[in-house]
Amino acid sequence: MYESRILLSHPNSTYATPVTYGDYFNDISQYNVHLNVFEKAWAAWYAYMQNDVLATGIMSFAMHELVYFGRCVPFMIMDKIPYFRRYKIQGQKMPTLSEQWQCAKLVLLSHFTVELPQIWLFHPMAQYFGLSTSVPFPHWTKMAWQIALFFVLEDAWHYWFHRLLHTPRLYKMIHKLHHQYSAPFGLAAEYASPIETMILAFGTVGIPIVFCAIFKDLHIMTMYLWIVGRLFQAIDAHSGYEFPWSLHHFLPFWAGADHHDVHHEKFLGNYASSFRWWDAMMATEAGSASAPKTREQKAAVAKKVE
Ligand SMILES: [Zn+2]
Ligand SMILES: [Zn+2]
Repeated sequence: MYESRILLSHPNSTYATPVTYGDYFNDISQYNVHLNVFEKAWAAWYAYMQNDVLATGIMSFAMHELVYFGRCVPFMIMDKIPYFRRYKIQGQKMPTLSEQWQCAKLVLLSHFTVELPQIWLFHPMAQYFGLSTSVPFPHWTKMAWQIALFFVLEDAWHYWFHRLLHTPRLYKMIHKLHHQYSAPFGLAAEYASPIETMILAFGTVGIPIVFCAIFKDLHIMTMYLWIVGRLFQAIDAHSGYEFPWSLHHFLPFWAGADHHDVHHEKFLGNYASSFRWWDAMMATEAGSASAPKTREQKAAVAKKVE
């Protein structure tokens, strides 16, 4: 982990050997003034842990839990405030706390039994394929274009495999569980069978690793920021809330809850995750939640023309 640019205190220095995380942070700060505070915190974490597999594993798992459950909290609070009911897509179907708890239990079970063991493989695999953990981090413009590329590629992966999961046999065997909630809420984003989680998670974790195997240029920090973005996307898409400030009003090709909520309501169409172009191109659009009457209106117009 410690490449030539990271210096810990000089062996002959009068400073005591660092013990706590704070000691490592101060030590690294003193000898690496070119690093920003996040880079110092990152380097101090790896130095403090003295075990890169454990350091990456704990950080990855903690980040996933924190972002996943943390991002759901604002929606759970909104559920309790009548004012926000006007933004709820299927306002007549409010999730109860016990429903959300049932959902969270299965999600937690799968995080601890399916995801946790795999997370320990992440660091060795990342190292094998050349993902970098060193500091300083890459320039933000490089992180931005790589993340944008992962959004586009994951969306294509998700569209085709999600569509495959809707073929009758696979739907019954695997995907039915995710469709238990016809009016989804944030916590339901990862409510799925372990097989589905592995198939669809390849789009999120596997694609960047393949990218790195080919181009030999990816930092784990970029990967983390991408996964945080993807988690926000998945939870927003399942939130059940459509706001006037939702992203798809500004980026018309962005999917959001407006797109995925209809998939849960109607069980068919709108298979993509982040964008609308695959469903538009393949004529699998189920419509938009903010314009629920569009299809009925189209049918009425068609009838009049006849
Ligand atoms: Zn589905
Ligand atoms: Zn869903």
